[in-house]
Amino acid sequence: MLPADTPVLFALIIVSLATSVIVALRYFASSGLFAWITQKVRPGLYDGQGAQIGREIRWSLVAAVIYGAPAGIMLWCWNHLGWTQLYADLAAFPLWYLPLSVFLYLFAQDTWFYWTHRAMHDPRLFKILHKVHHDSRPPTAWTAMSFHWLESVIGAALIPIMVFLVPIHIAMLAAVLTIATIMGVTNHMGWELFPHRLVHSPLGQWVITASHHEKHHEEYRCNFGLYFRFWDRLCGTDRGFSKRMVEGGTPHRVKV
Ligand SMILES: [Zn+2]
Ligand SMILES: [Zn+2]
Repeated sequence: MLPADTPVLFALIIVSLATSVIVALRYFASSGLFAWITQKVRPGLYDGQGAQIGREIRWSLVAAVIYGAPAGIMLWCWNHLGWTQLYADLAAFPLWYLPLSVFLYLFAQDTWFYWTHRAMHDPRLFKILHKVHHDSRPPTAWTAMSFHWLESVIGAALIPIMVFLVPIHIAMLAAVLTIATIMGVTNHMGWELFPHRLVHSPLGQWVITASHHEKHHEEYRCNFGLYFRFWDRLCGTDRGFSKRMVEGGTPHRVKV
């Protein structure tokens, strides 16, 4: 903990650096874990992609600072000013609000992602903002945070704003960030983690897993969602699953 008389700007820089390091470590832990599992269950899937993975890690470390710094500032505001809508007392809201708050955050993030992502597929914006992410062909477990720094700024903007507006228990915010991390990694890792029965169940018609996002990386102009297929289905941009994924995946993916 920093002494109480630490100058505010200095304290904000230290806290932001600390949260950036935490986001970077979270990236290495989650992507590293799923890359290791991939090596076990789909040996050779990332063969020949070493240079791409190096690029993905470099962009992801830039993203870690862009995601981490506002998180640090937000935590400082919560601790010192009480400005945010974060709460730690379970009795502050009814228990049913806990899962509802997680859903509200995920749905808001999904909506923000769908529309900004779709806009970034406009050819003029694509070149500047989104090409970096699609330079991963095909994506890997390391692609989850591989974005141009401007795209990271856009992606990182929503949650720090939401915590000032929509109440959420600190543990539920941790749950949202954990879901974001795990789905971000597994949706890019090149094989379907979830059982075939679940992906093809009614739930799979509404929730996005790797089979759905891989199709976005194959065809670009469809499947723009993050967690849910709601906006894609409503706006006619949902083209279902990657055929290769549905067929169970081949050990070596066709490079496009
Ligand atoms: Zn992607
Ligand atoms: Zn895209």
